[in-house]
Amino acid sequence: MAFSTQAVFRDDAYLRETEATVVGVNDRGGIILDRTIFYATSGGQPGDTGLLTRGDGSNISVAATITGETKDEIIHVPGLEQAVPEIGERLKLSIDWPRRHLLMRMHAACHLLTVVCPYPITGASVSEEDSRVDFDIPDAGFTKEDVTSQMMELVRANHPIYNRWISDDELAANPTLVKSKNVRPPSGTGKIRLVCIGDNASIDSQPCGGTHVAGTAEIGEIHIGKIEKKGRENRRFRIRFGAMPSN
Ligand SMILES: [Zn+2]
Repeated sequence: MAFSTQAVFRDDAYLRETEATVVGVNDRGGIILDRTIFYATSGGQPGDTGLLTRGDGSNISVAATITGETKDEIIHVPGLEQAVPEIGERLKLSIDWPRRHLLMRMHAACHLLTVVCPYPITGASVSEEDSRVDFDIPDAGFTKEDVTSQMMELVRANHPIYNRWISDDELAANPTLVKSKNVRPPSGTGKIRLVCIGDNASIDSQPCGGTHVAGTAEIGEIHIGKIEKKGRENRRFRIRFGAMPSN
């Protein structure tokens, strides 16, 4: 039987600590809680790492967070040789916040890239140092410099980034909301989370389950490190932190 974990990060990406109760430990030692702030790997964003603190003050380190049999079951994968908690035990949860915040900045930067390059997305991967988004795009003459300056314009404008829940029917009525070519947002659950950028979603809105910063200025300085050709109509854009290195 799969458990259903309350995904607290979905409503509050900024919560760094909370408490929860152990509801299951699977045969590989994976810890399942009734609720969690640990994001589970999906949609190109890696899962969180961090600590689970027991009543006696000892820590269980979490090396990875993944989904289980269903998307709603979140499994905290302990590092090597960690203690195994009891079912029903209360734990204090703390995520590796500096890492998560880098991922939130990068993930939001990926959304800005899809605003500047409004083409079908074929893949994406977010990491603390380097993120990539792949587009189906003929060589439209994009340069790293142009894309970077358009993205930085959106960063400097400090547009708000927020979630809005819509129904399956609303999404079906607005098919252009979905930019991903291969990945359809989960439907059938009745509601879908849209990530909106700008007042009244004036800059962008798209279905996404990841974690993002609350405003574009918080992304900070970023640049396009590389535009790679991956086949006749596929281009891979790499986003990096910091100013574009001058040649
Ligand atoms: Zn997102």
